[in-house]
Amino acid sequence: MRQLTTTAGNPIGDNQNSLTAGERGPILMQDYQLIEKLAHQNRERVPERVVHAKGSGAYGTLKITHDISAYTKADIFSKVGKETPLLVRFSTVAGERGAADAERDVRGFAIKFYTKEGNWDLVGNNTPVFFVADPYKFPDFIHTQKRDPRTNLRSNTAMWDFWSLMPESLHQTTILFSDRGLPKSFRHINGYGSHTYSFINKDNERFWVKFHFKTQQGIKTMTNEEAQIIIGQDRESSQRDLFDAIEDKNFPKWNMKIQIMTESEAKDYKYNPFDLTKVWSHKDFPLIDVGILELNKNPNNYFNEIEQSAFSPSNTVPGIGLSPDKMLQARAFSYPDAHRYRIGTHYEMLPVNRPINEVANYYADGSMNFSDIEEKSAVNYEPNSFDGPQENHLYNEPSLEIFGEADRFDRTLNNDHYTQPRELFNLMNKEQKNQLFKNIAASMSGVPSYIIQRQLALYEKVSAEYANGVKAALNV
Ligand code: NDP
Repeated sequence: MRQLTTTAGNPIGDNQNSLTAGERGPILMQDYQLIEKLAHQNRERVPERVVHAKGSGAYGTLKITHDISAYTKADIFSKVGKETPLLVRFSTVAGERGAADAERDVRGFAIKFYTKEGNWDLVGNNTPVFFVADPYKFPDFIHTQKRDPRTNLRSNTAMWDFWSLMPESLHQTTILFSDRGLPKSFRHINGYGSHTYSFINKDNERFWVKFHFKTQQGIKTMTNEEAQIIIGQDRESSQRDLFDAIEDKNFPKWNMKIQIMTESEAKDYKYNPFDLTKVWSHKDFPLIDVGILELNKNPNNYFNEIEQSAFSPSNTVPGIGLSPDKMLQARAFSYPDAHRYRIGTHYEMLPVNRPINEVANYYADGSMNFSDIEEKSAVNYEPNSFDGPQENHLYNEPSLEIFGEADRFDRTLNNDHYTQPRELFNLMNKEQKNQLFKNIAASMSGVPSYIIQRQLALYEKVSAEYANGVKAALNV
């Protein structure tokens, strides 16, 4: 038998009956075991994520099948056959923690690679682009996805008001309302790093890189009607599908691929390669095989390992870096900031977030600091004469040429928001186009007509067929 104890390890003699003054009397305040139990219940939740609150996750590995060491010195890609342990957290974006899984929404696809050079987090989505290109608009966009401040209801009007005023959102909304905007499960989506990142090789050359994870399970989607039936029966359909598949040893897999652009190609490319609302065409920058990502172990404790898992694009390793993508820079600040608030200052000391290599720094104290006491007490400043950890210039990235004047540049000028949505639209077969029209029309229910007209004018700029299809579905 394992002895039940208090948090201080004191054995508990009775876990059924409170300590009372007489058999029928009130509870004594000295019943610290009862008080500790209730106090812990009050603290069982950490604040849910403002976005991506509803998620599921699992552990697995990335196995390298192709040599890409010409582009990066990152140890994770150092040789064919190398395996790196990882954690993936999938999520929906807008819904709260109790929201149904089978909702039309972007899916988060966040990966934490536990490498021997520290954690590398690739915090992506199931879409290669995003709704906005500048983080200044991110809180506004998210407000349109969340609840209306007055009604506490989700608002189609807020969404379409914002999108119709932001033509850069056309690409992502075309994906969202296509068949792929409502995935059958997390196993049946692709993952994209979405942002442009950088690779640095052994010769200190920089390449720009995009990451892709293609599902080996195949893309599977649902119609709005199919999803409604599923939600009526099971709000946790994606969580259940992922958990059961892994328990049944039907391990889901994705093929990892990259696109590479040189620094000089980036200067001349027809689009800004750091614009998160644009893809790099596969024809211009073909996909290069890298390896296979497999998920093969469910967490033992959902709260500890998934709810408290904390991903950040700022977690990079030698050989992988950021890029001038404005959204990426903001996320590198915003994600760790969210975790410090949501989980606590030392969230990276929690087992799920802790790197597998030694962490050595001079950050002192702070809530829940449970690093090795002896190591920390030695010296907490740098430089010092006591053999404390030191920098190594070998890890410095090559310098990056920046040019131009500091200003707030209007990104709508000379920016083509229509060609890429058109290319996507043209890829769709008749059935997919019909679904797109129907899904858009359904989500415009209750939206004032002047907002709908403004959005239809944007579709006209993509293609007449697109605009006419939506008009017909709306009966306009
Ligand atoms: P390609 O024909 O080489 O690639 C088209 C891509 O579109 C494939 O990756 C395909 O994914 C994906 N796709 C097909 N249908 C949909 C859909 N309804 N929603 C989202 N993705 C879909 O063309 P290009 O590279 O020249 O790109 C053309 C358009 O394809 C782009 O404007 C973009 O919207 C879309 N796209 C491009 C991607 C890229 O990185 N270049 C990535 C994803 C989409 P799959 O192979 O898994 O079926």
